[in-house]
Amino acid sequence: MAITNEYLQRVYAQAEKRDGDQPEFLQAVREVFETLGPVVEANPQYEANGILERFIEPERAVKFRVCWVDDEGKVQVNRGYRIQFNSAIGPYKGGLRFHPTVTESVVKFLGFEQILKNSLTTLPMGGGKGGSDFDPKGKSDAEVMRFCQAFMTELQRHIGQFTDVPAGDINVGAREIGYLFGQYKRIRDEFTGVLTGKGLEWGGSLARTEATGYGLCYYTAEALDKLRGDSFEGKTVAISGSGNVAIFATEKAQALGAKVVTASDSNGYIYDPNGIQLDVVKDIKLGHRGRIKEYADRVPGSEYHEGFTGVWTVPCDIALPCATQNEIDEESAKTLVKNGCTVVCEGANMPSTPEAIAVYQANGVLYGPAKAANAGGVAVSGLEMSQNSYRLSWTFEETDEKLHDIMKDIVASSLEAAEKYGKKGDLMAGANIAGFIKVADSMVAQGAY
Ligand code: GLU
Repeated sequence: MAITNEYLQRVYAQAEKRDGDQPEFLQAVREVFETLGPVVEANPQYEANGILERFIEPERAVKFRVCWVDDEGKVQVNRGYRIQFNSAIGPYKGGLRFHPTVTESVVKFLGFEQILKNSLTTLPMGGGKGGSDFDPKGKSDAEVMRFCQAFMTELQRHIGQFTDVPAGDINVGAREIGYLFGQYKRIRDEFTGVLTGKGLEWGGSLARTEATGYGLCYYTAEALDKLRGDSFEGKTVAISGSGNVAIFATEKAQALGAKVVTASDSNGYIYDPNGIQLDVVKDIKLGHRGRIKEYADRVPGSEYHEGFTGVWTVPCDIALPCATQNEIDEESAKTLVKNGCTVVCEGANMPSTPEAIAVYQANGVLYGPAKAANAGGVAVSGLEMSQNSYRLSWTFEETDEKLHDIMKDIVASSLEAAEKYGKKGDLMAGANIAGFIKVADSMVAQGAY
């Protein structure tokens, strides 16, 4: 696809010039700009107010040194980031990712996606993201704690319940949020909802752990119903990853009548033709932070293969990528289509390359883009913020029902926006347009700053 409008072309060229060394960020911007042509043409006030120029420039980007002492007494130095991208519709909101692949480009692409994703949830949250190149793999619990404390010692001066509310992302789960929250409280001497994904005993929300995976399935089920009159019932599903998103997507897909046959980690994938035994995956990954290979040793009839992209060679009706960015390239997309896959909905952020998306579009694949399909996680984070403000907690059922309604609403608003701007049935264009208009109108209303 191409960027069709002159204003968008000009702003994108400027981004390429300034941020030419940030491939993931440019990829995310390009994908959005390719769908916004009719929107900027119908709304000349956006160009007049420099909305797109402002939209791709973070309001604030913090980069800091994180210094911590390992178990051998040696000083380690990592890089920390917090990108406060856009606060037009609420305080900055978005997760923290700890992974050796984290760079400014990765955090900026994630923050950029988060602006539109958060807008789609209908909740008042701006876009932000952060993280570090720290690799928790192989680190002791005490090392992870010291790292988190060092990270928060700097981050705390930039965040707050009304300013910026971080949460988890890859490798940042309940354990890390606990250490981060403890350090914030220690330094600031205040107990506030400054982070989401907190433990249930200290301000967390029921259903937050399940939210991204469950939400992904609610979104997929709704899109299947609205666009094809179909459902998960009797479908074979390939899921990548074995973290929080993948585990609870598997749980909900199974509950909705599908057979999930795969799981993966950064080393390889497992294939279980009888359907994944989720209690075994949970025991390996949530129980003792093990490798997915162990599944094949424990479950007769299942297979383990090295190389995580091999998961897309497994025949399936529905693919739910829940691992990481750019995990499905053109070749994997072609293989999926050849093997009969007709639905790809994204649990991870930007898991499909632009070439893979072109393959989906050319072959009529029902494509649910990440910023819509995986918005359930941050949606329940938003509900956690509401509960913290009320100083009460809702039941699992109440929260899960709100999540379900939000995911259905995202499908509806995406389809409506797509139809209005001449892209009937296009969930990607619809998500970009619906998410963007709300933020852009708020920016116009609040004046240039
Ligand atoms: N990291 C998640 C995402 O990509 C959740 C962010 C949050 O809960 O703030 O949306």
